[in-house]
Amino acid sequence: MSIRQRLCPDPESATWLAKHCSDSRFVYNLGLEQRNLWCRHRAARITTVSQQKELAEARRETWLGKGSSSVQQAALRDLDRAFQNWWKSPHHFAHPTWRRAGIHEGFYVRDLQVRQINGRWGEVQVPKAGWVRFRISRQWAEITAATSARVTLDRSGRWHVSFTTPSPAFQRKASGAEVGLDMGVAASITTSDGVHLWIPTLLSAGEAQRKYRLQRQLSRQQKGSNRRAYTRRCMARLAAKEADRRRNWIETTTTQLVRDFDLVVIEDLRVKNMVRSANGTVANPGRNVRQKAGLNRSIHAQSWALFRQRLTDKATHATDLVELVAVNPAYTSQRCSVCGYTAKDNRESQAIFRCRACGFTANADVNAAINILAAGQAVTGRGGTSHASPIGVDQAQRPDEASTTRELVLA
Ligand SMILES: [Zn+2]
Repeated sequence: MSIRQRLCPDPESATWLAKHCSDSRFVYNLGLEQRNLWCRHRAARITTVSQQKELAEARRETWLGKGSSSVQQAALRDLDRAFQNWWKSPHHFAHPTWRRAGIHEGFYVRDLQVRQINGRWGEVQVPKAGWVRFRISRQWAEITAATSARVTLDRSGRWHVSFTTPSPAFQRKASGAEVGLDMGVAASITTSDGVHLWIPTLLSAGEAQRKYRLQRQLSRQQKGSNRRAYTRRCMARLAAKEADRRRNWIETTTTQLVRDFDLVVIEDLRVKNMVRSANGTVANPGRNVRQKAGLNRSIHAQSWALFRQRLTDKATHATDLVELVAVNPAYTSQRCSVCGYTAKDNRESQAIFRCRACGFTANADVNAAINILAAGQAVTGRGGTSHASPIGVDQAQRPDEASTTRELVLA
């Protein structure tokens, strides 16, 4: 788990922080290039050890020596971790890519040292820069429990320090309640209890208008000009505000879900696959480009990956058992949650579900959420019904119940 605090460096330390960012990026990209070349030519075996050795040599002979060795070494370790992740689960992690200036600005701080000035301000020791102040918004004990930290600069020019800490136990008592979640576009999340939850969308009307105006301004301004850079910063600040609100919403919502329910069933949406298949070029367009483009935007915007990650983290560290189950969502929107009749026609519109067999009528998302819950209950042996033999769907098309993944079962 990480705790992100706002870092407020004075101008002199900010220069060092910026240098660490660029050093870090340079070393990371160089290491990446070396590994990519090795993949192509198999010239010599490249490992973290060999790369660390070469870094030490480069530090003796070039300008790199002026920077911090621990920051530069950490960049190589970071690269190694990126490759390890990709080797281990290529479906979840992309091949490591270039770090770009202005986008990937950050570095790791090892041998973490922090001290408290007063109730509001603390300081963290950064190589070369010395003590740098940060604003305390969490329990001091949580921060001192951290073992390492990462300093980042976002596009709106704000510095942050993220402390990596062991996840605290999530306090909860068994409630006996169970819930299924349908993730959609109309409402961000619909629960099987019939509750619709909306992730905060872009800003208030005034802020949305401001964004629109900035976009128009940007299109008229000359590339590389100071005014354009200023407009970009303003836009980045708006985007950061929006992202903060979303993150906050995800934290609150996942906490509520893990606190209130013993079983949470979610859809196993392969977000990355859905995103990937729409990628295409002019010469070689991907499949379903047009259909998927709109969907992708909302999937990205609604930050499912982070939502699921936080849900998993909290369920894992709960004091009383929470089961989180991901089920195959196939046909959950076409199947009647009462009789199990499955057909396309059941879905009268985006919003309304009306069963052609038994006449059951409900909000389409709620019906789907109930099906998702039932499938999860069947998987965990809590009863429920997966409607394993739905009418109207032949054997080959049947949702593959066996492929349902069981995320975690913890005591
Ligand atoms: Zn029915």
